[in-house]
Amino acid sequence: MKLVRKLSILGATGSIGDNTLSVVRANPDRLKVVGIAGRKNFQKLARIAAEFGVKDVAIRDEEAYEQAKASKLFSADTRLYCGTEGLTAVATLPEADTVVAAVVGTSALRPTLAAIEAGKDIALANKELLVMAGKFVMGAAKEKGVDMLPLDSEHNAIFQCLVGERIDDVAKLLITASGGMFRDYSVEQMKQIKPAQALKHPNWNMGPKVTIDSSTLANKGLEVIEAKWLFGVSPEQIQVVVQKQSLVHSMVQFKDGSIKAHFSPPSMTFAISHSLLYGKRGLPAVETLDFCKPMQIDFAPPDTARFPCLKHAYAALRAGGTATTCFNAANEQAVASFIKGGLPWINIADVVGQTLEKTPHVDPQSLEEVLQYDSLARQNADAIIAKMGY
Ligand code: NDP
Ligand code: MG
Repeated sequence: MKLVRKLSILGATGSIGDNTLSVVRANPDRLKVVGIAGRKNFQKLARIAAEFGVKDVAIRDEEAYEQAKASKLFSADTRLYCGTEGLTAVATLPEADTVVAAVVGTSALRPTLAAIEAGKDIALANKELLVMAGKFVMGAAKEKGVDMLPLDSEHNAIFQCLVGERIDDVAKLLITASGGMFRDYSVEQMKQIKPAQALKHPNWNMGPKVTIDSSTLANKGLEVIEAKWLFGVSPEQIQVVVQKQSLVHSMVQFKDGSIKAHFSPPSMTFAISHSLLYGKRGLPAVETLDFCKPMQIDFAPPDTARFPCLKHAYAALRAGGTATTCFNAANEQAVASFIKGGLPWINIADVVGQTLEKTPHVDPQSLEEVLQYDSLARQNADAIIAKMGY
């Protein structure tokens, strides 16, 4: 347990960034922010830097970096960095002991690996990194002896349920899913879904990519794969359960039939607080559940016929190697096309399924090989989208 954790936050301006900063505000004597990074929202980075006294700030986008330098929004002693190198500089700051990986997509792969190489613990929200290159990310973490703290609420819930247990006693990890915005839609209704509808989650306030992934259950697919890497269980030991109120964040079923569950309101601050303050509980950033009030909690199995992304994720996980890289890459391309207003929502899963079929999969021997198959899958997904007429 660290008495004071010193954080570099990659993706500080996003939804996980906001929630992480709320947890820091609630626990200022135990958490300190020393570095922050984002893509281009330098105005928000400047506000965060001023509030938390951060001196090291990375801006991925070159134009935004130039504007930031000219803006006078940062104090004179701020060190501003640019590009992937800038992200890597913030991820490897000597002062930081923990890197919060909360960039969306796979662009923070190298900075995160550099952080592991520099011996930093990783608080991982950015699940795409494990889905794309789990073998190398987990391999590097093991070699360096750094902690992989699960920030994703489901994985943090499982982590909490596993305290004091033996992994050999686990029968199943039960990953809960809200079921997303369209859980009760018919196929006919699904054909009409527009980006603005898919960007509204019924329970959670998250970034656009993860909100759309929640609506297709691709997010749950990514999380099933993430669970395999974090907890080392087989695909057969991971089951998805729809829990539409998002109050039970996941469960673990043991060999003796007992089941442990983790409850909290749908706020990421609970998972973030537990992970960053692991070993000694901190103070809550938001109010918790009140069992004096009536509350309903429903469970149901997922419908993979209407939400085939989940089926594709399991197929990719069973195939192993770069099949999960391909699942992630195809999904990113399809979601980007949907957001731009091209690909219909209902075709996202088709693009993922067809890309998995079209792209060969290998057991990658190097990170370069992963990147090569990632780019091949993206090309194949783009071609499939184009063939569909979008
Ligand atoms: P957001 O879209 O809200 O935020 C993304 C953050 O990453 C922003 O700070 C953004 O900067 C930054 N960013 C985006 N692209 C780049 C880039 N190329 N280089 C550097 N920084 C970049 O996403 P979320 O916070 O919702 O999600 C972040 C990660 O956490 C995802 O992997 C998601 O799956 C995962 N996650 C999210 C949950 C949630 O509740 N939101 C729950 C569990 C996991 P800028 O603002 O300048 O664009
Ligand atoms: Mg989650």
